[in-house]
Amino acid sequence: TTNSSKYNITVIGAPGVGKSAITLRLLYQEFVDDYEPTKLDSYQTMMDYQGQDVDVQITDTAGQEDYASVRDTFLRSGEGFLCVFSLTDSDSYSHIEELYNQVKLAKSMEPPQLPFLIVGNKSDLESSRQTKTEDAQRFAESLGVKYMETSAKNNENVTEAFQFLIGMLVESRSAETAP
Ligand code: GDP
Repeated sequence: TTNSSKYNITVIGAPGVGKSAITLRLLYQEFVDDYEPTKLDSYQTMMDYQGQDVDVQITDTAGQEDYASVRDTFLRSGEGFLCVFSLTDSDSYSHIEELYNQVKLAKSMEPPQLPFLIVGNKSDLESSRQTKTEDAQRFAESLGVKYMETSAKNNENVTEAFQFLIGMLVESRSAETAP
């Protein structure tokens, strides 16, 4: 069956954490090492969610991190948020709480309703890891959101991360339209 409505997932996070690599991995099943973003990129794709085809729009915000006005626009128009930091860059991890607060404010929503997933990317670079799994896990729990670790390079958990958010969006819409 086809679910005709479209779901937006917006990928946010500090520069260099792998937002484009994650997005392009999902879309093209390949690792793009040297993608140069110059604008907000938006892609359409179909995903399977529990046997349903769902129409997904993915907004990759790479390159837009510094423009507050652009950020307001994509935070307000986004529905589900894949909030990425790099496991090899503790500075990118320290930005997560601020991003979370901005999304919460822009959407006027809180967990567990808020479709927000924290993703620690570059899990393949274990020897350069700066953030422990258990610390990120505990931090996500304190906010009331879920945490996953991905590798765009090794294609680990990338589909699962998008699937998780799609699931939240599909469920919340069907709750809205339920009699
Ligand atoms: P963005 O600025 O957040 O969009 O980050 P990019 O997608 O441009 O990635 C920044 C750099 O990190 C690039 O050199 C990527 O090849 C690299 N990168 C992204 N994801 C991974 C990953 O999962 N593992 C490794 N080893 N490198 C990655």
